[in-house]
Amino acid sequence: MRRPVIAGNWKMNPPTLDEAISLARAVAAVSAPLDGIDVVVCPPAVWLTAVAGELAGSGVAVGAQTMHHEERGAFTGETSPLMLAGLASYVILGHSERRQYDGETDEGVARKVASAVAHGLRPIAAVGERLDERRSGATEAVIDRQLRAAVSGLDTIAGSGLVIAYEPVWAIGTGEAAEPSDAQSVARQIRGILHERFGDDAGDVPIQYGGSVTADNAAAFLALPDVDGALVGGASLKPEQFAAILAAAAG
Ligand code: PEP
Repeated sequence: MRRPVIAGNWKMNPPTLDEAISLARAVAAVSAPLDGIDVVVCPPAVWLTAVAGELAGSGVAVGAQTMHHEERGAFTGETSPLMLAGLASYVILGHSERRQYDGETDEGVARKVASAVAHGLRPIAAVGERLDERRSGATEAVIDRQLRAAVSGLDTIAGSGLVIAYEPVWAIGTGEAAEPSDAQSVARQIRGILHERFGDDAGDVPIQYGGSVTADNAAAFLALPDVDGALVGGASLKPEQFAAILAAAAG
């Protein structure tokens, strides 16, 4: 049985440690009474240690926003899976902002997903089409390419903790969420590809929708048969909004 995973991607926010700690505290408080869902916050790397400390024992998991696939070496500015071990239990990989601004490629995401699994981190592998790709009718082909690449380094997904986030790029941070029916059809496509590659274990993989999820629209996405959670950007910085999304997921 898959449990919904609701992950807050704080991106490059908040700017101070005090704000990061109070945001973490607020998430812990609103999550405490909820059952049946996995709640994750993904702070900037520089706040990971303090936020993980603040959330220890709260039931809220911590994730990184990216990582390098190597364990150590001459990779200036990067964070390795060994550094995340003990701090984070999830890591977002292949976010469209990393693909767009940091040159992340399908091949790079594949290496990172395999490395995360090998180091006991649950990868949240993000896939999604750009607006021009959507307009030209290429959504299905883009998802197919990105997803097959992302899992290409895995022989099995049993026990991997793999999570897939479907995030149409044009919906991220724009206030223009996808239609739930479109999210469902891409989520079903994702499930089908995973099934083809890995058999029945595909049924255990939570598939998130991400892209302008709010307190108002979360329930519609979370009710979809193949959507089991959300990757939340802007609304994860507002505790009352995030609380409403968590409550919708917990049902
Ligand atoms: C994201 O950062 O993954 C995201 C979906 O952002 P937002 O919720 O702000 O659209």
